[in-house]
Amino acid sequence: MTSSASPTDSDAFATRAIHAGQHFDPTTGAVIPPIYQSSTFVQDGIGGLRGGYEYSRGGNPTRTALETQLAALEGAAHGLSFASGLAAEDALLRAALAPGDHVVLGNDAYGGTYRLINRIHGAWGIRNTPVDLTDLAAVEAAIESGTKILWVETPSNPLMAVSDIAALAALGHRYGILVVVDNTFASPALQQPLALGADVVVHSTTKYLGGHSDVIGGAVVLNDDDLHDKIRFIQFAAGAVSAPMDAFLTARGIKTLDVRMQRHSANAYAIASYLQGHTAVERVYYPGLETHPGHELAARQMSGFGGMISLALSGGEPAARRFAESMRLFQLAESLGGVESLVNYPSEMTHASVRGTELEVAPNIVRLSVGIEDVADLLADVEQALARL
Ligand SMILES: *Cc1c(COP(=O)(O)O)cnc(C)c1O
Repeated sequence: MTSSASPTDSDAFATRAIHAGQHFDPTTGAVIPPIYQSSTFVQDGIGGLRGGYEYSRGGNPTRTALETQLAALEGAAHGLSFASGLAAEDALLRAALAPGDHVVLGNDAYGGTYRLINRIHGAWGIRNTPVDLTDLAAVEAAIESGTKILWVETPSNPLMAVSDIAALAALGHRYGILVVVDNTFASPALQQPLALGADVVVHSTTKYLGGHSDVIGGAVVLNDDDLHDKIRFIQFAAGAVSAPMDAFLTARGIKTLDVRMQRHSANAYAIASYLQGHTAVERVYYPGLETHPGHELAARQMSGFGGMISLALSGGEPAARRFAESMRLFQLAESLGGVESLVNYPSEMTHASVRGTELEVAPNIVRLSVGIEDVADLLADVEQALARL
């Protein structure tokens, strides 16, 4: 079912995040729309659909509520919700590409995105060139006659490189290329890629949108009606849809996105500032620090710097492993964007699949997903882990 504009057409992000698509139930007055845990829908005579629903792979009211909310978050006409971020990306790639086409993507793209484009779509004749997205001349040089997608991720994972969405969109459009932004790390609370000129936004809603590490999901958000229809058809025909309970959990998480991102950003800034002054730390990757090469651009393009920090330990791989394994409040786990803080050792965890490729992550790098716990407790944990090196 296609998303429709919310009657709550507030310009304010926090209001839209809570109200778009989330209308009270007209039959009972329940403030929260019900979870329609139903695979199929009764027809009033053959083909007599109530509200357009027929079978939940094609559409389910709980998913529609989330899809309307997702579109509103990015100020877009259409939102589509999938079973995972990669399922969302896969549907978009299949809708936009044909064998022989070429994709330009960041050389520090999310490992799973690279694996999907390189190995799955690569096997069907899609070619790709990873490139440094902060270098516009390098991006332009990577464009070929068959290039159909410029895939942007900013800030990037795990090195938090910031690339210029407006400039990349303008460059891509000069060559007639679809410009896609993976907005997972910033979230729409901090960054609005469509307003900056991008064509499509994708999300792993597993991360900040869901926000509570309890559901896997993904989204595609866009304005173009034809491309939307193609992706909608793939969603229906291939079936990687989000289940009603998952859609409900994601919609519930989104309602607090705005306040969570403010707290994630404040906590991360405090921790990044502390790390920067520590002798055991060789380098801190956080766009909120003035020393970060993308700081000015991030300040212009984002309304906050987010909750993700990476750091390079002076003591190399042994120090990085020891630091990651010594943390207590920060739990050692993949993923990010939840209310609880996590620590990840990319080269053997999240980025193990890109070892030996251009996207390999150095063994002295540790990534932190800073949660919304009390900042003094988080700082104390960082301090005690550094003291063990
Ligand atoms: C996690 C992640 C994905 C993949 O999403 P899943 O929900 O795990 O399938 C894509 N992009 C980024 C930036 C991510 O962090």
